[in-house]
Amino acid sequence: MTDLILTNAAVLTMDPARPEAEAVAVLDGRIRAVGARSEIEPLAHAGTEIVDAGGGTVLPGFVESHLHLVLGGTELAHLQLGGVHGGAALARAALDFAGRHPERPLVMAQGGDYALLGRPMTRHDLDEILPDRPFAITSHDHHTVWANTAALRAAGILNGAETPRGHEVVIGPDGLATGELREFEAFAPVIALGGEARVNLGIATGGEPSPWPSDAERAIDRERIARGLAHSASHGITSMVNMDGNRYTLELLREMQRAGDLTARVRVPFHFKPHMDLSELARAEAMSRDFDDDWLSCNFVKMFMDGVLDSGTAYRLDDYPGQPGWRSEPLFEPARFAEIAIAVDRLGMQIAVHAIGDGAVRCVLDGYEAAQRANGPRDSRHRIEHIELIARSDIPRLAALGVVASLQPPHPPGAMDFPLQPTLDRIGRARWPDAYLWRTLREAGAVLAFASDWPVADVSVLRGLQAALTRRPYDGCADERIGLWPSLHAYTAGGAWAAHREGLFGTLRCGMAADFAILNGRLTDAAPESLGAMAVARTICGGRTTHTAA
Ligand SMILES: [Zn+2]
Repeated sequence: MTDLILTNAAVLTMDPARPEAEAVAVLDGRIRAVGARSEIEPLAHAGTEIVDAGGGTVLPGFVESHLHLVLGGTELAHLQLGGVHGGAALARAALDFAGRHPERPLVMAQGGDYALLGRPMTRHDLDEILPDRPFAITSHDHHTVWANTAALRAAGILNGAETPRGHEVVIGPDGLATGELREFEAFAPVIALGGEARVNLGIATGGEPSPWPSDAERAIDRERIARGLAHSASHGITSMVNMDGNRYTLELLREMQRAGDLTARVRVPFHFKPHMDLSELARAEAMSRDFDDDWLSCNFVKMFMDGVLDSGTAYRLDDYPGQPGWRSEPLFEPARFAEIAIAVDRLGMQIAVHAIGDGAVRCVLDGYEAAQRANGPRDSRHRIEHIELIARSDIPRLAALGVVASLQPPHPPGAMDFPLQPTLDRIGRARWPDAYLWRTLREAGAVLAFASDWPVADVSVLRGLQAALTRRPYDGCADERIGLWPSLHAYTAGGAWAAHREGLFGTLRCGMAADFAILNGRLTDAAPESLGAMAVARTICGGRTTHTAA
């Protein structure tokens, strides 16, 4: 029996035993056979659905190894500022959007860059555009929000707020908030004005909504997720590792799974915050026990070790250029992080830590090493997210400890949508050779998983692939591109391995999940500069079509 046959295709299996084929047969959501048309087409019978790929490319469904599904889905409804530069363009975009949404309690914009106005943005700049309505802009990296006076007042933080270390309501010389809000717990009260506090908990505090959301509220939140899932499916994504989380996120996804609305396999972590006690890991254990099937799973813990370079919150080993004495600081004391890493590792769970500065990367590696010393080596596949700066002496430690490098091709300044500045100046020319290493990490033996960090960057895998293949070295630095096949691997099999799911997806061979991304052309013939313009013609997850191009 065969439910579905994909044929007339350039099938790139990512399976070293048979890298290329022409057709695939599917039964009960799994791959039944991969081979030549002459082998596969005879498996069809009266009830078999035949998908003619028209000579296009069939790949394993893309594995998005680091995104924020709920936030991404939510933010699709906000004003998008990608490509907007200068006060006049900002004002035009904001006034137009505000005029079209007079009912919104908060005019929320996404994707602002740190050099939007060519100088630090304040509430007064935003007041000039919208003086009477709460108005806020999230930076593209999601680590800073700029809010106008009405938003700060409505959120109750115009006079400042107590925030945990690393999170800051920046106060000006007049004793009032400047409008710049650094990190999640500083801007959470502003986000809440838009009615989105519930879906922000997974990243802000790792806590659960209380009281538990009503049926109507959960329906609103499921709708946000559905938007995010549809958007991801349109880019060929069939599996994703969500990088913020709580039980509420998983419960919403399970409700969608039961209704037949889940169009991708989703891993959701327990988000461990610095204020938490080790005993809270019991919640992570319960999430891991209760969500453990081919579609929804947990069994991992996410942490943040630092912030980002642009706002000076990434923790580095040397001073920020032009700021003698300022290196930022780790969000977990190294000894405490090691204690947490040992405890999580002992529970058999995976750990993923956001670490952008080289100081943060070193703290995380030290903690993973302590876990290995305490618990003995195991197939843990602990991960480091981003690694934007790394000390040369730490590079071999990833392979030695079996650590996954979770990297984002859209992130290096100049590679895709992010401008060169201010990031390159924040790094400092002397450290450019240590920034955004891909090839160097891979050649040192680290497994790479590629991702977008959506909604931090465009979730498009094909645009990300183009960025990966066309990125130019910074002046005096090595070429860090890894080439087409290793890049595809990092978006498929590498991501599956990094998620402990290489037995389920990431390669096309008999018995694996019937998860496919079908492209409208021959990927291997396309010029790297044109990859982002290729379209995903169809996405199939578990044998079911989740997207077809209009
Ligand atoms: Zn992220």
